[in-house]
This record gives sequence, structure tokens and C-alpha cells, in this order.
Amino acid sequence: MTNREKYHFDDFTLDNYRRLIRIALERGFSFIPYTSQKDVLRKEVLWRHDVEFEPDIALKMAEIEYEEGIRATYFFQLHSGYYNLFDRHYSEVFHKIKDLGHYWGLHFDCRYWGIADEKQLDEFITLDRSYMERCLGVGLEVFSFHNTTPFTQSCLNYKYGGLINVYSSYFKKNYNYCGDSLGYWRFDRLEDVLSDENVTHLQVLTHDANWSEEVLSPRKRFKKAIHDNAERKIKSQIDGMHRLGNLVPDDCED
Ligand SMILES: [Zn+2]
Repeated sequence: MTNREKYHFDDFTLDNYRRLIRIALERGFSFIPYTSQKDVLRKEVLWRHDVEFEPDIALKMAEIEYEEGIRATYFFQLHSGYYNLFDRHYSEVFHKIKDLGHYWGLHFDCRYWGIADEKQLDEFITLDRSYMERCLGVGLEVFSFHNTTPFTQSCLNYKYGGLINVYSSYFKKNYNYCGDSLGYWRFDRLEDVLSDENVTHLQVLTHDANWSEEVLSPRKRFKKAIHDNAERKIKSQIDGMHRLGNLVPDDCED
């Protein structure tokens, strides 16, 4: 068996992403926000994105979801080494995703603040929350932890800093879970989980850079996301220099 088969590389194209949404719809799942209380009389899915590397890819996924008539929840970082949510480009991406009808939340990084207890957790979520709300002109209701640790796994309250915790006991108890962490299905394949008659309430987690137009290994998908991001920035800067008319020739000749 090849790695492509073993790790289901073909699952992680944007075309297949659309197909997975259609399977969820065919199986009767309602796509709900985290603020919704569990309804045992219907099949429900909390369809979530932790935006880690390239919000432009998250936007492509948001557009697919919009076309398929569903709403997901996008969790954004404030302390990412890969994107700055308050850069104009990414603030616009945020608002485009929101304007497509999707929900949004804070993807909170305990390690950035060196948080050691739940009191500090309340304090710093409140701080990040107020900054994100103020800068983007939106309200926040929900957060997810970035990079779970033994400490974050012990934080099981329904809310911290006034925001709903997607890793709280409530969601662990009431919803099955399927995620694409590290670019493959570490436990069960999403397609199989969606088709499992015993799964009626589900939380799905995907990450932007784990998905691409073409079939690639997880590492190549990640590299492509980073390279595309860099290319966009290079093009933007060079186009700007052209507009100013002061672009120096790109060689060492006279
Ligand atoms: Zn994360």
C-alpha cells in the first residue's frame, strides 16, 4: 500500500471537501453553531475550522460551504506566526467569511501568554476577546484552544472569559469528534464517520493548510500554502513599486 492510499491523500482536495459536505447533508446532518443547544431529535454537526496558516485557503473553504448552503465556524488566532488578523488583507478575509454567513470565534493560544491556571485563562481570553471585538467590530461567543496541552485538556468548563469552550465537558459528552490534525485522519476517516448510523451528533475540525486543489502529501500541502502566501506578498509589493514607477531592474547589468 502506498502512503497516498494509507493516509488518504486524495481525501484532502477542495473538490473532495465539497463532496464530504454533500455526504453530511445527504446523511441528514444539520450544521449548527456552538451557541445552539443539543437537539436529540435530529442529526447535528458542529463544523469547525481552526485557521492556522493561510486564511486565504479558509476563505476558499468558506465559499464552498456557502455554495453548498451550509454554515461553519471559523476560529482565528491573534498571535499566529503565519498571519496577522489585523493586517488589512486578513481583516478583509475575516469579513468576507463572516459575510458569507459563517460563524466566527477566537483560536486562543495559552502558550503565548504563559497561562498556568484557570484564573489567568479567564483574564487573557477576556483581553484577546476585547481586542478582537474592538478591532474587527464584531461580538465573540466562542473559543477553541490552539495546541492542546495537559493544562488545556484539564480546562473543561463551559465558558472561560465569557466565551463558550469547544473543548468543554459539554461538547465532549454530547458530540463525537473527527479532525484532520497533521493533515490526515488520525482516528477515523470523516467520510466513514459521517456515514456511521450510530453517529448522530458530531464535531468536525479541519485546518486550512491541510487542504489543496491537487492531491499532495500533508507536508506538500503545508509548503504550498506557505509558498502561495509568500508569492502573494511578493506580487503585492512589486506591483506597488511598479505603480510608483521606481522599480529598479532585477539584474546586475548596466
Ligand atoms: Zn491551532
